[in-house]
Amino acid sequence: MVPSYKRIVLKLSGEALAGANGFGIDYDTVVTICKSIKKCVDLGVEVGIVVGGGNFWRGRSSGQMDRTRADHMGMLATVINSLALADALEALGVTVRVQTAITMQAIAEPYIRNRAVRHLEKGRVVIFGCGTGNPFFSTDTTAALRAAEVDADIIFKATMVGGVYDKDPNKYSDAVKYDVLSFSDVLNKKLSVMDMTAASLCRDNRMPILVFSLKDPENIYRAVCGETIGTIVKEVEA
Ligand code: UDP
Repeated sequence: MVPSYKRIVLKLSGEALAGANGFGIDYDTVVTICKSIKKCVDLGVEVGIVVGGGNFWRGRSSGQMDRTRADHMGMLATVINSLALADALEALGVTVRVQTAITMQAIAEPYIRNRAVRHLEKGRVVIFGCGTGNPFFSTDTTAALRAAEVDADIIFKATMVGGVYDKDPNKYSDAVKYDVLSFSDVLNKKLSVMDMTAASLCRDNRMPILVFSLKDPENIYRAVCGETIGTIVKEVEA
């Protein structure tokens, strides 16, 4: 099998690691996701991962707290998730490096772009923790930023629904899934692919985004093999 991409950045929401609990980490779920990631690595695909923190904490839902501090807490949540993914991947025999945007030298490497690229070239999975290191940003924006920095071919955004729909498929049974979208569609129609900061960063850097469901974690491997799943957002010829 020849993979369709050489280098990907996989964006996992924190929620994806929580399994049926909806909170915290369900290790069996993490292992299932990591098995699919390992299959991609075994194909020779270079994999960077950005994981969210919503299974523990989201700055924007923090109510009365100071937003900057709440976002610092959110970034720390992403590190917990990064370490869980690293642990499961290592247990499966995958070589992993966690790099954090805020230095935590006792538990992870600092984020250094060139070093991250070197790890990827050597077939190591790199997990980018702490988001961008700045409050008021999201891990979607982190995925857009890191993908551009390491010159990835595509961002895989694994979500809880099967792609991008014209309306919320959880609420409307007649919601229609798009197969292909342009960045202008996403930005003009305010489709919920990623937040607007992340989507415009992808548009400016012509970074395609494949949105698909993680309900079946095998989808990560299917997507790497070029199977038509989910919705692809890319520069569409006029
Ligand atoms: N966060 C941040 N800066 C970043 C990335 C994340 O401050 O560059 C914080 C923010 O509080 C966010 C939380 O980390 O709510 C968790 O990230 P996100 O909400 O993107 O996680 P997800 O919804 O994907 O699980």
